[in-house]
Amino acid sequence: THFGFETVTEAEKRERVAEVFTNVAESYDRMNDLMSFGWHRVWKDYFVSSLNPGFSPLTPGLDPRAPQHILDIAGGTGDIAFRMLHNAHIVNGNPDVHVTISDINPAMLTVGKQRSRSLPASQQAALSFVEANAEDLTKTKPLSMSPPSTTEADITSAIPDNSVDLYTVAFGIRNFSNIPAALREAHRVLKPGGVFACLEFSKADKFPLLNTIYKEWSFRAIPLIGQLVAGDRDSYQYLVESIERFPTQEDFRDMIVDAGFVVGSNGGYEDLTGGVAAIHKGMKP
Ligand code: SAM
Repeated sequence: THFGFETVTEAEKRERVAEVFTNVAESYDRMNDLMSFGWHRVWKDYFVSSLNPGFSPLTPGLDPRAPQHILDIAGGTGDIAFRMLHNAHIVNGNPDVHVTISDINPAMLTVGKQRSRSLPASQQAALSFVEANAEDLTKTKPLSMSPPSTTEADITSAIPDNSVDLYTVAFGIRNFSNIPAALREAHRVLKPGGVFACLEFSKADKFPLLNTIYKEWSFRAIPLIGQLVAGDRDSYQYLVESIERFPTQEDFRDMIVDAGFVVGSNGGYEDLTGGVAAIHKGMKP
């Protein structure tokens, strides 16, 4: 099967992405390990330690252990948020760091909430879960464990302008229907001086041999593993195709700049594993 995404509308893409992540929520963590040979853990560890949450030595006049609000968008089952809390609370000894895990999909968030129960109580208290579309953070609602309701009355609050110190999105943004809208929202909610940081699959084409192996693995093995392990070939086929369609490192960096961010002297991004994944960062001036 081929999803033929070139011809689908934003609404159709949103519906398919919802279906994919509802289908994969339960098997998501196991599948990540199988599909990436555990590499996703290395990338996530590196991503979080490069941001060093809980420590802000570069902000003039600010206590390095000042309180921070981290917003983890498309946070899914909590992989980034849990690492952020560990780095901030344990490594940096800063308990005044709060992480909001936000995702459009309540099934993914529910798995995340269950996983969070094995964290220390102080870390659980510094976590919140909200359901929101990254393209419009003016409408969010807290995750409820009761049957999901979608009425307007449940939509409680907006993430305010200039309220977030660090915005993270890992392996999420390629699924968004309208990436520029999500980048504008990131810019709106961040404080001046706040950082946008994205970890995403990218292009490994600077290394032809690596690229060939990687493509073979992606297009042949991943849908098959999806079928055998998760009983769902189509969802994993979608994941592979969504990586293929995502812009190059440079084009994505340009989109970040277009949204009003300034990027560092490294050109705004860093390749991981030869570009199989990349980290992009921007600061709101
Ligand atoms: N960040 C987690 C991680 O690194 O393990 C989860 C990544 S998972 C591959 C992608 C997530 O993006 C899913 O949980 C999905 O529901 C979420 N997502 C897709 N479209 C979204 C949107 N428009 N707004 C917010 N989240 C979205």
